[in-house]
Amino acid sequence: MYLTDYHTHSCCSPDSTARLEDMVRAARRAGLRELCTTDHCDLQDENGAPLGGWDWTPILDQYWRARDKGGSEVKVLLGLELGGAYTDPGRAEALVAAAPLDFVIGSIHNLSPEAGGRDFFYLDYRSEEACYTTLDDYFASMLALTRLDCYDALGHIIYPLRYMNGRAGWHITLDRYGDQLDQLLRAVIQNGKAIEVNTHGGREVEDWRPILRHYHQLGGELVTTGSDAHSPGNVGRGISQAVALLRETGFHRFAVYRKRRPEWIKL
Ligand SMILES: [Zn+2]
Ligand SMILES: [Zn+2]
Repeated sequence: MYLTDYHTHSCCSPDSTARLEDMVRAARRAGLRELCTTDHCDLQDENGAPLGGWDWTPILDQYWRARDKGGSEVKVLLGLELGGAYTDPGRAEALVAAAPLDFVIGSIHNLSPEAGGRDFFYLDYRSEEACYTTLDDYFASMLALTRLDCYDALGHIIYPLRYMNGRAGWHITLDRYGDQLDQLLRAVIQNGKAIEVNTHGGREVEDWRPILRHYHQLGGELVTTGSDAHSPGNVGRGISQAVALLRETGFHRFAVYRKRRPEWIKL
């Protein structure tokens, strides 16, 4: 089975200490054929303030050094997880144009500036109502993101649930967001973008079933698979299950990227 991990972080992300070459070695051990490194570049900081300067040098230096460590088994690609692009589309375009990127994940990690801009990681999910207020804002931000061209795959659509349910212990679902999800997936398809199955280190695979079904029913085809690994031990986790789920939900192929253009891998 041709397995690819298109969502991974290294020490060039503030929340990881992993060296890219160790992530690449882990990819070899996990039997992956492609590893795309997608370090964080967020346009909002944890309190919602606009990002300061950005320097591509550490990411590019590390990438050129680690690229060959995959040998003939693992192709190593250069990606980015761009957070909050819709808060400054001009800046986002300039950032992604300044590096030879293969792939860009467009993510939302914060509330909108109008709602205070706080990072979802730090929010206090004290009531179910607070969770739904956050999700209302989250869906509006994702929709704003889909109007842009600076990304290739919409990142972890179910993202805030990992804090609401995984950490705060609620049982929040996206059931009441059917219309928003429909609008969002249609926008992704119409603009030629992808969604990702983000396994969150193998913890969230089954959660994607309703979204994949919905996307497939709307005619969506472009899907990538990623673990969101921040350490070598999580590289490739849940990817083979994600591929099985894609088959089960009707997909016959998934996408890999070269210089921000999709190519197909048959399932
Ligand atoms: Zn993310
Ligand atoms: Zn990530």
